Amino acid sequence: HAKAHSRGRAQVFDAAMHREVLDRLELETELRAAIGSGALEVHYQPVVDLDSGHLRGFEALVRWPHPTRGLLSPEAFIPLAEDTGLIVPLDRWTLRTAAHEAATWPALPGRTAPALGVNLTAAQMHLPGLVAEVRGVLGSSGLAPERLTLELTENVLMNDRNTTLDTMRTLRELGVGLALDDFGTGYSSLSYLRQFPISDLKVDRSFIADLDGGHTGTALVRAVSELGQALGLTSVAEGIETPEQFAQVRALGFTLAQGFYISPPLEAAAARALAQQAGPLVVMEPPPTVETK
Ligand code: C2E
Ligand code: MG
Ligand code: MG
Ligand code: MG
Repeated sequence: HAKAHSRGRAQVFDAAMHREVLDRLELETELRAAIGSGALEVHYQPVVDLDSGHLRGFEALVRWPHPTRGLLSPEAFIPLAEDTGLIVPLDRWTLRTAAHEAATWPALPGRTAPALGVNLTAAQMHLPGLVAEVRGVLGSSGLAPERLTLELTENVLMNDRNTTLDTMRTLRELGVGLALDDFGTGYSSLSYLRQFPISDLKVDRSFIADLDGGHTGTALVRAVSELGQALGLTSVAEGIETPEQFAQVRALGFTLAQGFYISPPLEAAAARALAQQAGPLVVMEPPPTVETK
């Protein structure tokens, strides 16, 4: 009897697993088709200059308007794309689409045209064609290389060190920026920061969320800002959700900020409209003072 019972459970388990595999296969097929037919969308989240409150640029964030599952966020399909290799055409499509869009953003009087941040999966960095791809996209879109920053996570620095270093140097020589994204959540060390030609540090939003938690949280975020200053890097605080967090990262000396408090990611048309506006995105409070709780 016991045996029959456990076999029954195994069959239920098999059926669930079977469904999950089919589900993934279906999603993979649909994602492949979506990439091929241009059915994905790129949204653009504003990044603000903490000195002036003016728009500094946008980060390109991919979205998948799925016919039955709704608007899917990258977390719902990037892991699948990474496992199946679809991430290569996906990232290529996002870079190309975003660069052509960014080329339409104007330079307002007395200012440089908005910058563009594009995320790249670590694996992309190790593809031999990456530099040619970036060069090609800059050429066809007309986007000035200085306006583009590629966002990489710390794990990119761990593998295939020499090739990565070569690729990064070539991209920097082109004029393209390189940001270390989600900084603080990976395994990079201080020596990596010195060795690799990084231009921007984007502190992970989990650290920003910890700013509300008191002294330790503030000390860590301050340390990232000081690290950026010491190494001559642009420091970016992401995941700013409240006016308090905004005032704090400003007081701690961050260069740029991004988050729902400033704006959520916008559709291309709304981002383009924002790029035409001359006024500050955030009205600045009087001189900042460092808050230590
Ligand atoms: P990320 O590069 O760190 O992007 C920031 C994420 O935080 C975005 O989520 C953004 O919508 C979200 N966010 C922005 N402000 C706030 C805030 O104030 N509070 C909170 N809680 N969240 C905020 P999203 O768009 O879901 O993207 C998630 C991740 O997916 C990105 O993290 C990036 O690593 C990856 N990703 C997005 N687009 C692409 C792409 O085209 N290619 C690759 N390889 N990865 C991408
Ligand atoms: Mg990013
Ligand atoms: Mg990030
Ligand atoms: Mg992130």
